[in-house]
Formats: sequence, structure tokens, C-alpha cells
Amino acid sequence: MGFSSVAEFDEAYASVQNVFAKGTTTSKRWRRQQLKRAWWMIEDNKDRISSALYTDLHRHRQESFLSDIAMVQADILRTLEKLDEWTGDEKPTRRDLFNFFGGTVIRKEPKGIALIIGAWNFPILLLLQPMVAAIAAGCTMILKPSDMAPATQDLLLDIIPQYLDRDAIRCISAGPQEMQYILERRYGHIFYTGSASVGKIVHAAAAKHLTPTTLELGGLVPAIVTATADIELSAKHVAATKFTNAGQICLNVNHVLVDPSVKEAFITSLIKHFATFMGSKPQAEHYTHIINIRNFDRLDTLLKQTKGQIVYGGSRNRETLFFAPTIVTNLDADDALLQTELFGPILPILESTLDQAITFTRQTETPLAIYAFMQSTSEKERILTETQSGGVTFNDCTLHVIAKDAPFGGSGGSGHGYYHGPYGIREFSDLRTVTNALPAWMEGVMAARYPPYSDVKLGKLVPVVKPGFDREGNDVSNGGWKRWIVGLGVLGEAWYLGCLCCDLRGWTSSC
Ligand code: NAD
Repeated sequence: MGFSSVAEFDEAYASVQNVFAKGTTTSKRWRRQQLKRAWWMIEDNKDRISSALYTDLHRHRQESFLSDIAMVQADILRTLEKLDEWTGDEKPTRRDLFNFFGGTVIRKEPKGIALIIGAWNFPILLLLQPMVAAIAAGCTMILKPSDMAPATQDLLLDIIPQYLDRDAIRCISAGPQEMQYILERRYGHIFYTGSASVGKIVHAAAAKHLTPTTLELGGLVPAIVTATADIELSAKHVAATKFTNAGQICLNVNHVLVDPSVKEAFITSLIKHFATFMGSKPQAEHYTHIINIRNFDRLDTLLKQTKGQIVYGGSRNRETLFFAPTIVTNLDADDALLQTELFGPILPILESTLDQAITFTRQTETPLAIYAFMQSTSEKERILTETQSGGVTFNDCTLHVIAKDAPFGGSGGSGHGYYHGPYGIREFSDLRTVTNALPAWMEGVMAARYPPYSDVKLGKLVPVVKPGFDREGNDVSNGGWKRWIVGLGVLGEAWYLGCLCCDLRGWTSSC
């Protein structure tokens, strides 16, 4: 299928714009219905999804069912279950008099038209999971699957209009050139998954309209293995993660930083597990291939450039795009394999103490995740306090991404914004604080707020506050300050409280 024409895109944009203006998508009924239909869309097309993923990636059904199918369906069911709670109004503290009398609520309102741009490595999951959040938030949307997974893209273009509201949810196809035009339009939110280089293009285009973005990017995710780790299990988890989707996962282990004292044992165990996972055939049928020749050549070049030693794998076939899991060791920190995100089945192993591993990790762009294999509590604490990353899994890989109702996203160079569970809905929602005036009968105690101003009025509006800390930040005992702190930090509240104090002391008439 070719790319959508300008006229087709314009018609899609006008349609989702009109529907949003009518308010159709804000109804809970519409949201529930679309979520349920999305669940059935996946259910009815499981086999087609799985075979499209096989065509695009030579991926085994087991991997596809777990990720692109089961994860999206589970997400839909959880969202349906929690929809009212996650989209409901929040009530800030009622111990505040303005909130109490004003009935203050924080509404979650849909941002408008969402543009969702997916990546090719999990082309269903990475498009439909943000879509679930956007539907739940009440947005209309334009979905843009990755053109690098064409079989899956064509399937999505076929089934989305069959199941979902065609006026409110449009799926279009576009390459980099078409995207220039698409990104010129104004959206309520842009949700992008992909590389940092294209993420910068998307972010710059969004900035022209001050459109908020979620950028789900990649990076150099390290596995840090110390001498206190369970070496056998650590190697098994790293090998299994690198095997999955042939390493073409944003959250995959990019490289291993392993303590010198356990390096040999770790590599021996890695080789054993890779061999088990690959099976006896030279090119395992259940192993995913590289997405296309461009990426195959990129990986091939990197492997030719390395000054390290290949101790396992290395076999590859440009015609079938098979690229074996490949362990490279005895390399330096400035090796070609450690400069960019590999996004493939090559696994460089760098000998590093924990100090060196932390220093190395701090020198790269903030990674999407860190996998730290260690039993020592103090070592774990060092990982948390001395590094930054989107998420952390200790003694396994990628588990934090499936933590129920927990946020998933990057930090710094690996992106910004979060989704999964309530966090995705938050991303596509504006928070709108709504409150009411104080009752008219309180007007008498509010006189100090009105001009003409005076120091007397100011003194009534801003009560004396004696904090429980001194200028050096030391806590000081001050039994009396707490009764003054009720309205601290909220000037508006302070003037009300000042008036109220006056009133309570019988000074109302002079306010
Ligand atoms: P990519 O940046 O090439 O493409 C992503 C999307 O952007 C695709 O839909 C593509 O069609 C579109 N695109 C390409 N060029 C564009 C342009 N000039 N203007 C606008 N849009 C354009 O990324 P990819 O190769 O599909 O994915 C690989 C990268 O994505 C890796 O870096 C990986 O780490 C990252 N990734 C991150 C996550 C995450 O959740 N954080 C998930 C998957 C992949």
C-alpha cells in the first residue's frame, strides 16, 4: 500500500478535528465502546497480526502473541476496569477553606487531536498502547504506523477502520517526506516512539505550535554485573533478552559492564544459554531476523569496525537478514560498538568494576533503563543514587516495563513523558482546575483583599509565620508556629485567613 496522499490526510485531519469539536469522544460511553472494539479487533485478527509480524521480522508466534497481542489486550481490559477512576475528577485537600467552600476539582480533559507515531520493532504494541490511552482520555487521533514494517502497517490500515470510529480515529501511512506535511498541522498532543534523531525533528515541529510531546526514545541500556551477582542467572536473563526480537528492542541490553573477577564465568554462561536458546539448527526458525537491509548493513559495518574479539556467533546472511546473537569481548571503552545504540543482536562485554561501570554509564546519554545484577544492598543503592535512567530492574531485564499501573518512559536522551496505566491517560489529558467563589455571605470578612491597600490590611492578609527551621536549615523547636501555618504558601488563602482572623477577633468592622 502506498503512502496516504495530501488530500487523504487533509480529509482525515478535518474529520478528527470536527469530531473533537462536537465533543463526541469525551463521553465515557464512546471511550468504553472504542476500547471494547479495539480488544475485539485484536482478538479477531490474532493470526493475521502474527503472520504480518513474521513477514516483517521473521518473528515467532510466541514472541508476537506475548508482546504485540497479549500486552495490548491486557492493557485494554485494565483500562476498561479502571476508566472511571483514572479519568475521574480529583479533589485537592478539603482542609483548605477555598477548596472546601469552592468545591475545587481537577478535571482531566482530553487535549484534542492526538498524533501517534509508532516504531517498527513492536509495530502493533507501540501504536495501539498509546492509542488505548488516547481513547481513554477522550481524544480523537491520527495513527501513523511505521512504514518500515509494511505488512503490519497495511494490516493496521485495513482493520482499524473496520472496528473503530472512522470519524474520530484515523490511520494513515507516511514516510519521512509525508511526515513533514503532517507535522505542520496543530495537534493537542504528539506521542512519538522511535530514534532520538527523528524525535528531535518531531519535537522541533511540535514546538512551532507549542504542542506537548511524549518522546519514547532509545539509548545505550547497560547491564551491570558485579561480583555479588548470581552469575548463572544473570547470564541467562541477559541472553534471553538479547535473543528476543534479535535485540531490536529499545529496552534491550546494549552492552554488559562486568566485574573482572566474574567476567569469564559470565561469558561462559552466556554462551551456554545462547546455544540453548538457538537450538541445534544453524539458523533457528524461532529466531527473529533484522528488519531490513539498511539495518543489517549498519550492524554488519559495526561488527567489522570493532577491535574486540568475537567469542560467540558472528554468522549472518544478508539475503535472509539472519544475524546470530554475537558476543564481542576484549574491547576498549572507545570501541565502535560502544558509541551508538546497537539495536540488534550484537552484545559487547566490557570489563568494569562497579566504579568504572557507573562512570561509563554517566558519560553516555541517560539510558532508557539500567539492569543491575548484584545481591549487595549497598551496590544497589549506589546504582540508584549515582546514575539516572528511565527505569531500573535489579537482577533481571525489562521487568519494570510490565510493572502494573507504573509509569514507563525515558529520561534526558532516552525521552520524556510516561505512559502505561493511568500515566498514559494523564499524558493525553489537560488538568483543568475548577473552583467557585466563596459564598456571598463571607464577603464581609474579605474586605482586606480590596484596594485601597495599606500595611494594616497586608498584616491581616499575611499572618506571622514562624517556621520550624532556622536559616541554616536546622529544625528548631517551635511549638507555636503550627497554628499559623494553615495557609502557608498560598497568598490568596492567606488574605482570606487574615480576614477570618480579624473576624474571629471581632475586628471585622475595621477590615
Ligand atoms: P525511527 O525514528 O526511524 O522511526 C520512528 C517513526 O518515525 C516511524 O513511524 C517513522 O516512519 C517515523 N519517521 C521516520 N523519519 C521521520 C521524519 N523525518 N519525520 C517524522 N517522522 C519520521 O525509529 P525506528 O527505527 O522505527 O525505531 C528504532 C528506534 O526507536 C530505536 O532508537 C529504539 O530504541 C527506539 N524505540 C524506543 C521505544 C520506547 O518505548 N522508548 C520503543 C521502540 C523503539
